[in-house]
Amino acid sequence: MLADLHTHSLASDGVLAPAELLARAENNGVNLLALTDHDTMSGVQALQASIASGELQTTVELVPGVEITTMVNGACVHVVGLWLDSAHSGLQRLLNGQRQVRVERAERIAVKLEREGMQGVLEGARRHAGEAVISRPHFARYLVEQQYCTNEQQAFRRWLGKSKVGDVACIWPELEEVVATVQSAGGVAVLAHPTKYGLTRTKLDGLIGSFSEVQGDAIELVSGAQQSNVTNDLLKLCERYPVAFSTGSDFHSPAQTWCDLGQQPAMPEAAEPIWMLRQAAA
Ligand code: AMP
Ligand code: MN
Ligand code: MN
Ligand code: MN
Repeated sequence: MLADLHTHSLASDGVLAPAELLARAENNGVNLLALTDHDTMSGVQALQASIASGELQTTVELVPGVEITTMVNGACVHVVGLWLDSAHSGLQRLLNGQRQVRVERAERIAVKLEREGMQGVLEGARRHAGEAVISRPHFARYLVEQQYCTNEQQAFRRWLGKSKVGDVACIWPELEEVVATVQSAGGVAVLAHPTKYGLTRTKLDGLIGSFSEVQGDAIELVSGAQQSNVTNDLLKLCERYPVAFSTGSDFHSPAQTWCDLGQQPAMPEAAEPIWMLRQAAA
């Protein structure tokens, strides 16, 4: 089984259309693909409709997913929901709220950056977002386009990343609410890329403990081109908790050369994959 359970399309901050993403996954030999755009399932719904009508044919099993921003002890943490019913009213309400927060946040980011002397920031970021859920990478692309920065990484390092001017505080829902909503929509809740929050080992342990306490289902054990010592260390940290494991490339773009769809390192044998549990339950 080649699974990739964390990917993005241009419905959020990825660059491929959902159907292009699916075709690329198939080309890469992926059997199980979750599309997990930030705070929207519009790409998933479009794919499901084209598969159901027969307009789109694929050997890949599509997992309907989403990546939801939440807050734990004042810090942003991402939860991936998988096998979701996108029509579930509680989930729709939550995602509508998330997108509202993003719209308001975008306005505040623009004010901050314009105070630094940049111009046309809101219009520019909106233009890069188009129909997509507006996110910080859309600001980064505008900053690069206007030559305020040389690349998106630098835009995050200077302006948009943690504790920078454009990292404005937001009220995201609590972890417990997000996990409960995902589960009420028939899905499983996965703690996304736990080692990417810059936490100390003690705080990371605390986060996994909190996630397990609110009945979270799985930990994303492998994310992108993660080093094997990081993976093994994380697996060890999870030993004390009753959680399963997930894996994903967190693919956004073919230009992201460090990890293509389904090309993230394999999970260790000792880790129980979330899809095995899912199949056993079905
Ligand atoms: P947002 O969801 O609007 O808060 O934006 C977060 C997104 O920005 C993440 O999902 C990544 O795709 C991207 N991102 C975060 N940090 C960086 C970085 N240092 N360089 C490039 N992209 C980043
Ligand atoms: Mn992203
Ligand atoms: Mn994320
Ligand atoms: Mn992601």
